Amino acid sequence: MYRTHTCGELRLSNAGETVTLSGWIQASRDLGGMTFIDLRDRYGITQLVFNMEDEPVLCQQARKMGREFVIQVTGVVRERTSKNPNRPTGDIEIVASELKTLNASKVPPFTIEDETDGGEELRMKYRYLDIRRTPVKDKLIFRAKVALETRKFLSGEGFVEVETPNLIKSTPEGARDFVVPSRVNAGQFYALPQSPQTFKQILMVAGMDRYFQIVKCFRDEDLRADRQPEFTQIDCEMAFVTREDVLNVFEALTRHLFSTILSIDLGAFPRMSYDDAMSRYGSDKPDVRFGMEFVEFNDLAKGKGFSVFEDAELVVGILVPGQAETYSNKMLNDLTEWVKRPQIGAKGLVNIKFSVDGSVKSSVGKYYSEEELKQWGQRAGANPNDMLLILSGETDRVRKQLNELRLEMGTRLGLRDAKVYKPLWVLDFPLLEWIEESQRFHAMHHPFTSPKTADIDRMLDGDHETMKNLRADAYDLVINGVEIGGGSIRIHDRALQEKNFKLLGFTPEQAESQFGFLLGAFEFGAPPHGGIAFGFDRLCAMMKGETSIRDFIAFPKNNMGRDMMIDAPSTIDDIQLKELSLTLRKKE
Ligand code: ASP
Repeated sequence: MYRTHTCGELRLSNAGETVTLSGWIQASRDLGGMTFIDLRDRYGITQLVFNMEDEPVLCQQARKMGREFVIQVTGVVRERTSKNPNRPTGDIEIVASELKTLNASKVPPFTIEDETDGGEELRMKYRYLDIRRTPVKDKLIFRAKVALETRKFLSGEGFVEVETPNLIKSTPEGARDFVVPSRVNAGQFYALPQSPQTFKQILMVAGMDRYFQIVKCFRDEDLRADRQPEFTQIDCEMAFVTREDVLNVFEALTRHLFSTILSIDLGAFPRMSYDDAMSRYGSDKPDVRFGMEFVEFNDLAKGKGFSVFEDAELVVGILVPGQAETYSNKMLNDLTEWVKRPQIGAKGLVNIKFSVDGSVKSSVGKYYSEEELKQWGQRAGANPNDMLLILSGETDRVRKQLNELRLEMGTRLGLRDAKVYKPLWVLDFPLLEWIEESQRFHAMHHPFTSPKTADIDRMLDGDHETMKNLRADAYDLVINGVEIGGGSIRIHDRALQEKNFKLLGFTPEQAESQFGFLLGAFEFGAPPHGGIAFGFDRLCAMMKGETSIRDFIAFPKNNMGRDMMIDAPSTIDDIQLKELSLTLRKKE
């Protein structure tokens, strides 16, 4: 028997018992007469004590053992004289009487502590050491809990977990596909699924009624901190539902996860249309933990000779509370430089300060009288010591810029507490998005999303402008400005789906060859259906108040999409290439 208890288990009530523990050496301290070892396993850390006088051989042996040695120890549990209140096992220690090395260890390349000296790449290379660290280990355990609660909840709601294939067909819509060459079908390729979208819809045609899957998805996109080439979704689909049904179930799922795992009651989720989100926050995923909503000033700004505002399509600002006295000219200049950085791209920043003494000062004071500036303040609901920050320009662009500034000011003022959770449903997304580069419409969500019922007729014979304004029965769940999930009511009618493909630039032949199976299925009694998918890694990170998803994934990839531990991707040998009927183009 390797152990009678884990390293996180023993308490004062066990005093006097003889126990055996196994684990890794976290640290050892040599105090002459005594040697202490902190022994760690997944469950905790227990202090071992070796007494030079009573057990000289054992003590000598213990002193030779290095960090991360795997050992087995037997001894008696004893109350500690100096207790460690920070550890659940801190009241006791084990007075060792037997000791065995189960395996030696090299000195680890970084410290296995909560705060480590290891850089990200090194930690990924030695991920097995990194996962021994409590913060990483805890995140994986947390993830497992979220997955389990998700399964419990959805199963309770009648959802059936069905696995869909990983080797599927490449389709050009959406992100880039990862492809896998087929050996037995020379010259042909599978694609890894970007999501099980078409399969879950087919399952609805198949009468499964309620499907879910915690599923890996693959997208060959450029990477960022919150993106991985393979990631996990809670993917769901329901038959005979309206948007309301889908929102209710997934709002309830989210509430269930927060209440069972974090003991947080999220309450009812507010809702906002996409158009409102864009005009009030300049973003389709607004962070509603704080105010500073957009205020538009076109009527007050124009006709006073300030050419920047005269030429602008939109003059819009945010009211920053209680900062007029704090923000010196130097700070405002710095902020102006901040919005002018290429990542934001604003041309400049106008400010109006409402002083405590009632006076109003502005960087555009020579164009506007104090009375006029007070009107700006009234519109924004300004109080003494508030400050308006104003941007102008082309509507879409300036809204995006002001969104960045709003988030920055929210951060600076400490209004974005990671432990405060504010969910929001964003509804009624546009159906289509015109992309200049490709000179065609793209699906804003995906090509299977249904237009809103009222827009179906317009979709069937509308002009370009009409197309731009079509609304989809699509929705996103946003928490704290992070898109947690998105979904839609789907098209379930062949003719409408064909029409949508046509709008997206597919020829009938292309639509048939890529999605013939779905169009075909729609001819055999497809029920009305809809669904949603949550980004599972992101949901876990968000629930834990973290921005990076990496440590919620056991073996993540780095910024170049590489697995640093197994060193993938890698070349394959000529025999494999030949078997796959592939030839590599020689580098010039
Ligand atoms: N398959 C979609 C996605 O991955 C989600 C959905 O529409 O259910 O974004």
